[in-house]
Amino acid sequence: MASFKAVVIEKAESGSASPVVRDFPDSELMEGDVTVRVSHSTVNYKDGLALTGRAPVVRRFPMIPGIDFAGTVETSSHPEFKPGDAVVLNGWGTGETHLGAYAERSRVKGDWLVRLPDGMSPAEAMAIGTAGYTAMLSLMALERHGLSPERGPAVVSGAAGGVGSVAIALLAKAGWHVVASTGRTGEADYLAGLGAAEIIPRDELAGKGRPLGKERWAAGIDTVGSTTLANMLSMTRYAGAVAACGLAGGMDLPASVAPFILRGVSLLGIDSVMAPKPLRQEAWNRLAKELDRDKLASMTRTIRLEDVIEAGRDILDGKIRGRIVVEIG
Ligand code: NDP
Repeated sequence: MASFKAVVIEKAESGSASPVVRDFPDSELMEGDVTVRVSHSTVNYKDGLALTGRAPVVRRFPMIPGIDFAGTVETSSHPEFKPGDAVVLNGWGTGETHLGAYAERSRVKGDWLVRLPDGMSPAEAMAIGTAGYTAMLSLMALERHGLSPERGPAVVSGAAGGVGSVAIALLAKAGWHVVASTGRTGEADYLAGLGAAEIIPRDELAGKGRPLGKERWAAGIDTVGSTTLANMLSMTRYAGAVAACGLAGGMDLPASVAPFILRGVSLLGIDSVMAPKPLRQEAWNRLAKELDRDKLASMTRTIRLEDVIEAGRDILDGKIRGRIVVEIG
């Protein structure tokens, strides 16, 4: 019987979930009109939640976790894709409700796939991964709001993480004066290398702050949530905006309406999972053109499929700097 290697999460009788690397039969692949030979994946914060079971990300068992992959089409009955095409997938419930990326093979809906941009390798696509694509969605949202570097600095929270690292590189390339907020001030050289002009300790944004603070930045990309997002909003300049994409510090938002009603500040929600295809294609095309490949390499480490389970624990513990590529086949 044909099978392929995968990380598989089984539900134990105790109710806990534990991942193992094992062979998975082709016959158990889920419905879809495109089968992909997966060559690379990555480890995002949500993958850490799925692998450790720390949040109920996985909605069916057995599950192959992994929310994004790059690979080559093996078979397709979808009109847009043929065997040999290089593709990228982010989200759409992959690794949550649909068998995911930590596998040599995946069968998905062709409508979920984006063509790998010209000149970008599958490894580079996964160095970017959902984290980098979300950073680009965040930048695009700030731009749609009419913000540009002349308006003032841009702040990035969770700066040394995956979304944060790519966000710094993209904002700096676009000409922004980037303020990087991090709990790892020892990574100052790394963050400066990506383009951060100023580094502030995470604590400055952590506690319960005032409804309105000193106006420090025109724009923000927040990966942390909770009091950090509340403080970023309270320190945003008149008519500025913060793109909220993460919850690494908490899902709550203990904020006041003061920044919205007294300074016209906007809170822009960013979702990468169900984002419509044209937005995805635009984000990937822009990443191909605008993200400096040397900076991308400087923030990326490569691991094997077998190392994914440990990396899932590490990312939740805030031990991963930048991005990880998982080499699969
Ligand atoms: P990472 O773990 O790589 O980055 C998160 C960073 O947040 C850490 O590196 C750390 O940065 C900081 N951080 C971690 N814990 C805390 C804490 N308790 N308080 C304050 N800061 C903390 O994760 P990703 O970059 O992959 O994802 C970042 C967030 O964005 C996650 O919450 C993820 O779920 C979310 N996300 C959302 C998407 C969407 O569609 N909306 C898509 C992709 C990601 P430092 O050490 O520099 O302080």
